Amino acid sequence: MNKFSIAIHGGAGTILPALMTPQKELLYRQALTDAIAAGAAILEKGGSAIDAVEAAVVSLENFPLFNAGKGAVFTNKGTHEMDAAIMNGLNLEAGAVSGVSSIQNPISLARLVMEKSGHVFLSGTEAEKFAKLQGLPFQLPEYFYIEERYKQWQDLKDSDSYQLDHTDKTEQGEKKFGTVGAVARDVHGNLAAATSTGGMTNKKFGRIGDTPIIGSGTYANNNTCAISCTGHGEYFIRAVVAYDISCLMEYKGLSLAEACQMVVQDKLVKMGGEGGLVAIDKHGNIELPFNSEGMYRAWQYAGESIFTAIYK
Ligand code: ASP
Repeated sequence: MNKFSIAIHGGAGTILPALMTPQKELLYRQALTDAIAAGAAILEKGGSAIDAVEAAVVSLENFPLFNAGKGAVFTNKGTHEMDAAIMNGLNLEAGAVSGVSSIQNPISLARLVMEKSGHVFLSGTEAEKFAKLQGLPFQLPEYFYIEERYKQWQDLKDSDSYQLDHTDKTEQGEKKFGTVGAVARDVHGNLAAATSTGGMTNKKFGRIGDTPIIGSGTYANNNTCAISCTGHGEYFIRAVVAYDISCLMEYKGLSLAEACQMVVQDKLVKMGGEGGLVAIDKHGNIELPFNSEGMYRAWQYAGESIFTAIYK
């Protein structure tokens, strides 16, 4: 199949129609559509999967309602510490950053780490020094100030709890996740994955989730699949979710759908790990499994319309 396909997510969790207004839902669907369009515009012209996933994630990072880039949640210190990763299935090259606080688009920094640093994973202020050398755009803290996020943090800031994004105070537990991500297959048959997040509200001690960990929250391999995850990072790290799906395909011969079913609906559920992912296989087939109430998601196969979905 020499056709492209692309899929994205804007986080999984207890996303219920009762907790949504029609206006907000429209905004989310438009943001998802815009992000797919940004990636598909590249793929349509024969561009690469890696360019497409970066463009789609930049679009999602610039949208304030998702927990990444501009909409990143507040840490325990009232700052923002963002994580991102990107991987190229063609050559298994990867780049990741964690704990960056003033980079406008952390996914573009992850891409530069992959291509220009000679390393895979950079963190904190030193990663920002590298970004400065590369001429990436920085932003002041005001840029990342979103009223709703600030209120989420105010509710928690004097406590020891931390919270996954969007968790509603009326809900039981910590049930919503807001990370963004994209996977794509280009017309040349190459796969790529990209994921970006602000992590958890009120997080401290430099907590890092699964997003920037290659093989946990992000993975791509032309022989198998490309995966971008969202969910309770601690579980996704321990289940090595993205690489596990790839391994089930590579070593056990499972289809993408079977491998996703096994990891997301069985293994993660048994561990208590809530969340989901977007995935694409080498033939361009898309899977969007999640074990939570909902997941912001969108996808497009070449020549077909863009689909968006939020609930089960
Ligand atoms: N997986 C992310 C983390 O644990 C959170 C999310 O998906 O919203 O940092």
